[in-house]
Amino acid sequence: MASERYPVAITPEMAALIDPCDPTDPIAAQFVPSAAELDETPDERADPIADDPFSPVEGVVHRYPDRALLKIVNACAVYCRFCFRREMVGPGRGGLSAKALPAAIAYIESQPQIWEVILSGGDPLILSPRRIKDVVGRLAAIPHVQVIRVHTRIPVVAPERIGAALLRALRTEKATFVVLHANHPRELTPEARAACARLVDAGIPMLSQSVLLRGVNDDVATLGTLMRTFVACRIKPYYLHHADLAPGTAHLRTTIAEGQALMRSLRGRFSGLCQPTYVLDIPDGHGKSPIGPNYVNQRGAGESDAGATTLIEDYNGRRHAYPPKP
Ligand code: SF4
Repeated sequence: MASERYPVAITPEMAALIDPCDPTDPIAAQFVPSAAELDETPDERADPIADDPFSPVEGVVHRYPDRALLKIVNACAVYCRFCFRREMVGPGRGGLSAKALPAAIAYIESQPQIWEVILSGGDPLILSPRRIKDVVGRLAAIPHVQVIRVHTRIPVVAPERIGAALLRALRTEKATFVVLHANHPRELTPEARAACARLVDAGIPMLSQSVLLRGVNDDVATLGTLMRTFVACRIKPYYLHHADLAPGTAHLRTTIAEGQALMRSLRGRFSGLCQPTYVLDIPDGHGKSPIGPNYVNQRGAGESDAGATTLIEDYNGRRHAYPPKP
């Protein structure tokens, strides 16, 4: 059974959103195990974006020069059926040990090019405010670390955890961003919106990240509404991830062409504030690349490169020469 193979957890807030009469419910699709998870495809892999080869010490992933990931806990409040770290997270997998955390911080201290540290996991905000304050304080004390970014699902899946103690824990003199992971507009309940408002009102800017998921948000109405909901909550849409090649997740993945068509549909029909960057984490650790549609030099059948003029496609699909004829 899928529930024996991969971790399962859902918070009461998310369980309450599921329509038990809808076999295609988009919230259930994210959290309720499915037999389809037992079907693995040859291109799927346990470590889809290759964290391990880029981990110089336990808990740190250092893939890009100016930023590093600090995975402070390997557990979450919910377990997403599409999680790219599904082989690494699970209940009872605690935080970094008393020995590993100082070694991870020491590594970041030793690398002056690290300008930004991303707290991840797992979900870092399942830790107590005391532990979060300790980690944030240690990072903020490193002179070359100017930005601390926290990736979390907590404001939507367990909004009551965003309380005064946690807000105090996140407060530092360094720029601190919270990046909210949500995939369907229904996740932004009144309680979740209030939790996000507490963060923003405390001076913590918020960004969003979503995963493009078949049957959850792979239609323009749902995706556009999700982005508008973020913006209305003062959360700037940041990333729309193409789903990673995590084991047993093929039933939830779209094609890149489908993702690009959705991005094309968002452009022009929804405010510029509502446009995330569609990205793929290239397997084997080659990093993120934007994979959205290209609007430059879109040529139709019979058009040649001879005497090339740059053509720019507008949001209606019409092409225009640039610069225009005088
Ligand atoms: S909250 Fe994040 S780390 Fe945890 S299961 Fe979901 S996607 Fe994975």
